[in-house]
Amino acid sequence: MCYCSSNTPFEECCGPFINSSHLPTTAEQLMRSRYSAYCTKNAEYIRATYVQNEQQHHSVEDILAFADVAQFIKLEIIDTGSTSEASYVEFKATYIAENKVCMLHEKSLFVKESEQWKYLDGTILPTLETKIGRNDECPCGSGKKYKKCHSN
Ligand SMILES: [Zn+2]
Ligand SMILES: [Zn+2]
Repeated sequence: MCYCSSNTPFEECCGPFINSSHLPTTAEQLMRSRYSAYCTKNAEYIRATYVQNEQQHHSVEDILAFADVAQFIKLEIIDTGSTSEASYVEFKATYIAENKVCMLHEKSLFVKESEQWKYLDGTILPTLETKIGRNDECPCGSGKKYKKCHSN
């Protein structure tokens, strides 16, 4: 199943966007594919889907560094919609990093540039981090102990 928690196979969900055979037709599709690109460590795709003016501020190395530290385990779409300037997607992305469960709760803005959806920027909302013990059940829901699953 696709990384983005859609319950659809990767090849029928974010895969075609990430391998550039199709363009996302909605902002939510682009948001989901960027999430899946973090899961598959496809930093080039993440960089290329920022609006042109933002790409210079996000190096492939920085994106990859975050993708290496953060192991994403769940995506929830909270809300989607549009204003006259942009479309927005509010989401909660859960990931494991440095023995903590962290959540990125963000309202992202997307605009079309040359007919393609691009990520403009986002507002990050505060969340809590929880420490994970090595013998705790892994937060990814596998039923295994953390030390035998997502611990690294
Ligand atoms: Zn997907
Ligand atoms: Zn796990």
